[in-house]
Amino acid sequence: MVGGEAPVAVQSMTNTDTVDEVGTAVQVADLARAGSELVRLTVNTEEAAAAVPRIRERLERMGLDVPLVGDFHFNGHKLLERHPACAEALAKYRINPGNVGRGARRDTQYAQMIETACRFNKPVRIGVNWGSLDQDLLARMMDDNAALAQPLEARDVMKEALIVSALGSAQRAEELGLGHDRIVISCKLSGVQDLIAVYRDLAGRCDYPLHLGLTEAGMGSKGIVSSSAALGVLLQQGIGDTIRISLTPEPGEARTKEVQVAQELLQTMGLRAFNPLVAACPGCGRTTSTVFQELAGDIQSFVRDRMPEWQRHYPGVEEMSLAVMGCVVNGPGESKHANIGISLPGTGERPVAPVYEDGEKTVTLKGDNLADDFKAVIERYVARHYGRDDQVAAPAAGSSQAP
Ligand code: SF4
Repeated sequence: MVGGEAPVAVQSMTNTDTVDEVGTAVQVADLARAGSELVRLTVNTEEAAAAVPRIRERLERMGLDVPLVGDFHFNGHKLLERHPACAEALAKYRINPGNVGRGARRDTQYAQMIETACRFNKPVRIGVNWGSLDQDLLARMMDDNAALAQPLEARDVMKEALIVSALGSAQRAEELGLGHDRIVISCKLSGVQDLIAVYRDLAGRCDYPLHLGLTEAGMGSKGIVSSSAALGVLLQQGIGDTIRISLTPEPGEARTKEVQVAQELLQTMGLRAFNPLVAACPGCGRTTSTVFQELAGDIQSFVRDRMPEWQRHYPGVEEMSLAVMGCVVNGPGESKHANIGISLPGTGERPVAPVYEDGEKTVTLKGDNLADDFKAVIERYVARHYGRDDQVAAPAAGSSQAP
């Protein structure tokens, strides 16, 4: 469920050729297992439309019922008409009003897609994008603006055109019979401040669920920072029902990174919990070896690897918080605020690592097996706090403990 009181949903999109039904099904499965609650795929050709039901079947054979959203541009009306199995297999259609045709054909082709959605009882996301804004509408609005005594800046007209395109298309969809509650809207731009301004305006002018995303966010830290800055401001104001972080993957980087970032954004804002969060200090001159960074990274990976099993057996474990700190300056204090925290010895400090559980020091680790010993402490904590009585005891802690 999307919108209303439902939690903000995480979406993603494949970058495989949809015609490659095996490759696409595998990537959808990866995204779904990483936590994507809807996965969008491109439906751009007859072959892609024909592949969609087979992708759906493959996912079902893998035990995955993640909803698939079809992304249609230009020929969506024909594809949906000619491939009823595709129209049925998709859980939602994304229609970009700027890419449904030009002139008189635009209205007919848009109507055909909406009528298919009505016939198959599917919701529609009306997804406007500033890179493919309805040019006829924009030209009309620019002309009207130019005739004003005090015309607006062209950029402001463009932002208004995005909203007018989305809301006008939604109104037309309702006139064609699509239920008000079957419509989701998005208006994507690539500028942080522009996106915030448009969504604030949009949220005040309609009650449709809104899908948030900064389009063309970019690669690496730039994409993560700009998406988080834009979406964080909007989410904080209660705007947004689903989100996607549109990252350009680095060469060799997993597509699932965008799901991980979306989850971490929602979790760090306190809106949802997906995985235990590991707090770590940045390190400084007191952490001159790499032991601290290695342990922080090791524990982060350990938690991610263990989550699929923990989630099956230990409900609520996603709320757990961990702290890995580099020395005694802030270490014990931060550790006390986490469910489980460890303070490593900083340079020149006694080579012991006190561990705190729910604010109390429970053990002090030392020796060469700090990472394994700390993992054993975490396993025990998880079993004790989130397990049911009938569950198997957690593995014993390591032996290198100091009083
Ligand atoms: S906790 Fe210690 S090691 Fe970490 S940043 Fe603070 S002073 Fe440096």
